[in-house]
Amino acid sequence: NSWWSGVQMGPPDVILGVTEAYKRDTNPKKINLGVGAYRDDEGKPYVLSCVRKAEEKIRGKNLDKEYAPIGGTAEFCKKSIELALGEGSEVVKNGLNATIQGISGTGSLRVGAAFLNNFFPANKVVYLPAPSWGNHTPIFKHAGLDVKSYRYYDPKTCGLDFAGALDDISKIPEKSVILLHACAHNPTGVDPSQEQWAELSNLIKKKNLFPFFDMAYQGFATGSVDNDAFAVRHFIKDGHRIALCQSYAKNMGLYGERAGAFTVVGDSKDEADRVMSQVKILIRALYSNPPINGARIVTEILSDPQLRADWLVEVKGMADRIISVRTKLRENLKKEGSTKNWEHITNQIGMFCFTGMNAQQVEKLTKEFSIYLTKDGRISMAGVTSKNVDYLAHAVHQATK
Ligand code: PMP
Repeated sequence: NSWWSGVQMGPPDVILGVTEAYKRDTNPKKINLGVGAYRDDEGKPYVLSCVRKAEEKIRGKNLDKEYAPIGGTAEFCKKSIELALGEGSEVVKNGLNATIQGISGTGSLRVGAAFLNNFFPANKVVYLPAPSWGNHTPIFKHAGLDVKSYRYYDPKTCGLDFAGALDDISKIPEKSVILLHACAHNPTGVDPSQEQWAELSNLIKKKNLFPFFDMAYQGFATGSVDNDAFAVRHFIKDGHRIALCQSYAKNMGLYGERAGAFTVVGDSKDEADRVMSQVKILIRALYSNPPINGARIVTEILSDPQLRADWLVEVKGMADRIISVRTKLRENLKKEGSTKNWEHITNQIGMFCFTGMNAQQVEKLTKEFSIYLTKDGRISMAGVTSKNVDYLAHAVHQATK
C-alpha cells in the first residue's frame, strides 16, 4: 500500500484546461480567448520595448545574484506604492505604508491573506464581489479565512448591479473585510463610475469595513495609470486605511517574472513599522524572499524618466488596442445582423469581456468554430485581433441568434 493511494485526482484548472483543448485543435481558424495574457495584433505574446531596454541596462550593471531582502528592495517598494498612490502621496511622505514585494499579484494576495488571518482584529471574513477572479476564494481560504460575497454583476444588463451592491454591503457585519477590484474587474470588465466609487467609499466607511484592494491592471483599463488608480486614491483621500495588492504581470507584460507588491496603510509610522515586521516574519516562513529579476526590471522602468515615459506610452498602446477591438467586435456583430444589444462589449473595460453567452452558446462556439473560452462566457479581449475579429463576430452571432 503506497503512502498516496488515498489521493484522488483533482480537477484541472479551468482556464489552463481551455488552453489545453485549444492546443489539441487542428483548425487553422482556432482562437484562444481563455487566458488573460496580452497578445499583439498578430496574436503573439508581447514584450514591451521598455522592458527590453531595462534588461539591457541591468545586464550592463553586471549585478550579483544575492538574495533580495525578505520584503524586496526598498527602492522597488517605494516606486510601487508611489505608482499606486501618486507621486508626493502624503501616506508615503509620512511613512504610513508597510510595502513589500510580493510574488506578482497572486503572491501579494497570499501574503495579505496570511497577514489578515494572523492579525485582523475583527471579523475574519472576506467579502468578494460576485463574481470575482476565480483564484480569490482559494487564496483566502488557503490562508484560513472565510469567504462570502456581495452582489456586483447584473446579468440582465451585463453591467454593475449598483443597488444590489449597496444593499448587500450595507448588510455586511461591521469590521469585516471587503475586497475591491481597483479597476478592470475580472472576470466581468465592469467597473463602478467615479461617483459610484465615492458612494461605495462612504458606505464602507460608515459600516467600518476594511477595504482590501486588488489592483492587477493599473494602466491597462483606460490606458492611464493615474485614472486607473482613482478608486484607491479616492479611498485614501476619504481617510480609509486600506490594504493593496499590485501586479506588474499585465501592465508591464512581466507575467512570468512574478513582480508585485503588497501594502498595508497604517495610522502612524510606528504602526506601519510594526505591521512590516510581522509581514516579514510571515514571508520568511512562506518563501523566504522574492525573485529579483522582475523587480529589477520594474525598478529600472519606474526610476529612469525616459523608460518610464516609454512605458506609459506602451501601456496606453495595449489598452487602446483592446478598446479598438471591442469597438470592431460590436460593429461586426451588428453587420452580421445580430439584433441583440452588445453595448456592454464597449462599456466594459480592461482585458475581459463578460459577453452574457450561456454555457450552451459557449459550447457551440467551441465545437463548431474552434473558439475557446471559459463556460461563463468570458472572453479575453487580448486574444482578439484585427485579423480574427470578423470570424469571431460571425461565430458569436451564429451561436447566439
Ligand atoms: N488579481 C486579479 C483580479 C487578476 O485578474 C490577476 C491575474 N489574472 C491577479 C490578481 C494575479 O495575477 P498575477 O499573479 O499573475 O500577478
